[in-house]
Amino acid sequence: MNNIEEFDVVIVGGGPAGSFAGIFSSERKRKTAIIDKNNQICKKLLLTGKGKCNLTNMNEINDEYLSKYKNGKFLINVFYQFSNQDLYEFFEKNGLKLKIDTGKRVYPESENAEDVVKTIRKMLDRNKVKLFLKEKVIDIENLKDEFKVITDKRILKSKKIVIATGGKSFPKTGSEGDGFIFAEKFGHKIIKPCPALCGIEIKEKFLKNWQGITLKNVKVSAFLSNKKIGEEFGEVLFTHYGVSGPAILNISGDISENFEKGEIKLIINFKPALNKEILDKRLQKEIKENQNKILKNFMKNLLPSGLIYEFLLLASLDPYKKVNQLTKQERNIIIEKLLNFQLTVKKPRPFYDSMVTRGGICVDEINPKTMESKIVNNIYFAGEVIDVDGKTGGYNLQMCFSTGYVAGINA
Ligand SMILES: Cc1cc2nc3c(=O)[nH]c(=O)nc-3n(C[C@H](O)[C@H](O)[C@H](O)COP(=O)(O)OP(=O)(O)OC[C@H]3O[C@@H](n4cnc5c(N)ncnc54)[C@H](O)[C@@H]3O)c2cc1C
Repeated sequence: MNNIEEFDVVIVGGGPAGSFAGIFSSERKRKTAIIDKNNQICKKLLLTGKGKCNLTNMNEINDEYLSKYKNGKFLINVFYQFSNQDLYEFFEKNGLKLKIDTGKRVYPESENAEDVVKTIRKMLDRNKVKLFLKEKVIDIENLKDEFKVITDKRILKSKKIVIATGGKSFPKTGSEGDGFIFAEKFGHKIIKPCPALCGIEIKEKFLKNWQGITLKNVKVSAFLSNKKIGEEFGEVLFTHYGVSGPAILNISGDISENFEKGEIKLIINFKPALNKEILDKRLQKEIKENQNKILKNFMKNLLPSGLIYEFLLLASLDPYKKVNQLTKQERNIIIEKLLNFQLTVKKPRPFYDSMVTRGGICVDEINPKTMESKIVNNIYFAGEVIDVDGKTGGYNLQMCFSTGYVAGINA
């Protein structure tokens, strides 16, 4: 124990947040170490964007951008210090060519997440950041003017600590919630972690017949009793367990965090651009033009054919009825179901199948200008371990890089 190595900054977790903290603390000549359980840095990042890594989003940072996050306001100062533009320039300056795709999503030009990791690793090596890989931090002790970091292989001492251990999602990539335990030990409040950016399991059994069907341009709303807790436009995909696809992923965190409070209903609006009156006019016009069609064939104008059988069954309508025999009441039933198709949430998919974690270290106890703990001096936080999570589109990685930068320049 005589040869305990000492550092200015020890970073627990070498994901995107911890790696950026490492790059920028070492830029300031701080003797820096990163410890990670895995045999390489940024293991989860390799899986991002289906292996292509959607590393940020270039939409202008304004209120709308911040609204893509839970606790987006906490990021105002963070993004002011290190924005999406700064990130873009950082990677290009360091040799990684990027491209901006639909929805202003940014990817490496090579569409290979490995190139992002290689660039980050190159920066860490250039700055001589010491990497302790395949090593797990078991405990951190506060010795007043320094910290003792206990791993499964050694003890290190450090003046400052950055906790960048990620959340609980995809635990096989190393993020198993350890940072919450360390933070709690130092007196931090942890907002209960739950899965986000995940599919939602649905109670209705008929849904298994819709497996594989994708709906485009629909609106999905989630209600807890009569209170709307989330809403998204876009794509919904029916799966073997229920629903997924971008619109579902983006409200899954809202569903997860309210899940234990009561029954949650999902309402799909198949025709969000139309109101009742306009839809009724359209139906009447199309009925006139297709007088002799039977209902199940007529419905192909309104829904993907794979959905029609169950849709009509739930509406208690005869699929073989001629459309010119539909009563006004039956037309209204179709309209009501098209605009408010109801499903019941069974549960969100588990952490192992969710892309990010909602919840984590309470933002009220972190200084957003420095990422330092407001409770214990010289402890900093960065990345998904904090109670901030974003929608799909590169928002989560941007938050990780930016909070990592701020922790790095301050630790
Ligand atoms: C399949 C998938 C696809 C995704 N796609 C995108 C995308 O395209 N765009 C986007 O913006 N976001 C995406 N995300 C989310 C994004 O990957 C995460 O938000 C981000 O990786 C979090 O970074 P982090 O540094 O906070 O934590 P992590 O990347 O989870 O890194 C934390 C690190 O800490 C280490 N660690 C934890 N505890 C300890 C310990 N006790 N001792 C030592 N080491 C420890 C872990 O091994 C891990 O390497 C995706 C996530 C998944 C799962």
